[in-house]
Amino acid sequence: MKTLHKLAILADAAKYDASCASSGSIKRDSKKGKGIGSTSGGMGICHSYTPDGRCVSLLKILLTNFCIYDCSYCINRSSSDVQRARFSVEEIVNLTLDFYKRNYIEGLFLSSGIIQSSDYTMEQLVSVAKTLRKTHDFRGYIHLKTIPDASPELLQQAGLYADRLSINIELPSKKSLKQYAPEKDPSTIHQSMTQLKDHIDESKESRTQKKSAVTVTRRSGEKKKSLVYSPAGQSTQMIVGADESSDKKILTLSHYLYNKYSMRRVYYSAFSPIPDASAVLPIKSPPLMREHRLYQADWLLRFYGFNVNEISENNCANDGMLDLEIDPKLAWAINHREFFPVNINTATREDLLRVPGIGAIGASRIIQSRNFRRLRYQDLKKIGVSVSKVSAFIETQDHTPKKLDSQYLRQSFVKQENQQLSLFN
Ligand code: SF4
Repeated sequence: MKTLHKLAILADAAKYDASCASSGSIKRDSKKGKGIGSTSGGMGICHSYTPDGRCVSLLKILLTNFCIYDCSYCINRSSSDVQRARFSVEEIVNLTLDFYKRNYIEGLFLSSGIIQSSDYTMEQLVSVAKTLRKTHDFRGYIHLKTIPDASPELLQQAGLYADRLSINIELPSKKSLKQYAPEKDPSTIHQSMTQLKDHIDESKESRTQKKSAVTVTRRSGEKKKSLVYSPAGQSTQMIVGADESSDKKILTLSHYLYNKYSMRRVYYSAFSPIPDASAVLPIKSPPLMREHRLYQADWLLRFYGFNVNEISENNCANDGMLDLEIDPKLAWAINHREFFPVNINTATREDLLRVPGIGAIGASRIIQSRNFRRLRYQDLKKIGVSVSKVSAFIETQDHTPKKLDSQYLRQSFVKQENQQLSLFN
């Protein structure tokens, strides 16, 4: 099979991984005369973010879509009737280098089905990263998907060559994992995550300790290099909507993963019915908006001081699901009118962050500006806060919000959001 043909198969098979979401986007042709900005011109190229916030293009492929496991939700499961292909280590190394030299990509995202055994597959993945780094002195970004039940030695090696490692948690509950992926063991997934965390922490600690040592060695003219383990940390992915787990359950698990394993990101991937799907799966995918709301809720958990109950108990059905019509912060604010109005000139940063329309940057700017003068309603616009969103929830010397019925308030925001969405459609 020609490399290009393999690339078509293995890049397509990789698009179900949400960690680099853009490769699953609608294909647009930007060949001559048909516009610019194609995400499909270079097969399997997607975008991701480095820890310092840069957006990088990655070659996103599988080593192989052959797999000895039979996870119902996966297109590459052993019982799936799809065309199979497999790259050799050398082929992936060459493809990455060729694409890199042509400036198509800045890194590689590599995952794989399991062939022969978990260790054998992991060895191949590690070998790609090691060859790129050691033989070709490749300085680009490498994200390796890790096989959870691979040996600790291989997991240890993987982090020495990859910028980021990830192990998919797959489903929100052990029960669903047992039902849909019986060959996967949740305890092994958690053990491997613990191992990665330990290596990452040790590496960070030794780097901090070595900093002072390096200063001393620099003075004496010697050079010392310390190996950094997975500097961009670890991440994971959860499929949403393949089982009956509520958003509350999903967010509770995410909260646990962030705290226990210091995850850099939990990615949510709305289940989409796959070709030749297993009969045990739902026929319909959940609304894509659910995935979007989960990302918003995840942000509130990590950066806005909300807890899972606060986020997931705002819907009138009280079923642990997020409101799909309005964002979770707004849903909380409408449901907790007693908390408002928040006084812009006296509120703490924590309270400002609870106001819909005030983000982390907005809160910092408000606090900074308060050092110089009392803020008026119109000042908020100048510092980049959306007044249409905040007006119902804040007070300033020259502004007191109208007492509006919660239902009315909700409807007016739903209308606003629909108008904004229609602009994008
Ligand atoms: S082990 Fe991975 S590639 Fe294989 S069937 Fe399960 S999810 Fe798919």
